Amino acid sequence: MNCKICGQDNKIFFNAKILNKYDVEYFHCDNCGFLQTEEPYWLEEAYNESINVSDTGYMQRNIILSKKLTILLSLLFDKNTKFLDYAGGYGVFVRLMRDIGFDFYWQDKFSKNLLARGFEYNEGGV
Ligand SMILES: [Zn+2]
Repeated sequence: MNCKICGQDNKIFFNAKILNKYDVEYFHCDNCGFLQTEEPYWLEEAYNESINVSDTGYMQRNIILSKKLTILLSLLFDKNTKFLDYAGGYGVFVRLMRDIGFDFYWQDKFSKNLLARGFEYNEGGV
């Protein structure tokens, strides 16, 4: 399989099971370091539900990351600018960051915005 970044021919690096049923080959590029799977045929099934039901750490992870990102944004960035949570899932992270006081927006073409409605990113004019 050719690397999707640099085009070099890649060898199989390892196999793994996806969605608990598909044996998938992973390829590593010795030239640029990119890791990719074989051509993905499982995406439609994988994205039937945007958040995996077995993801029991979803809320805790978002809460912890919102605290960490608050520190980074406050110290290293213009905290008064606009931010985008690309592939923002149900909008939990955007909701948390907005509640803290940041101007966050949501975008995710595979998920429904449940918690950050009204703050969808619109290309060309947030
Ligand atoms: Zn490459």
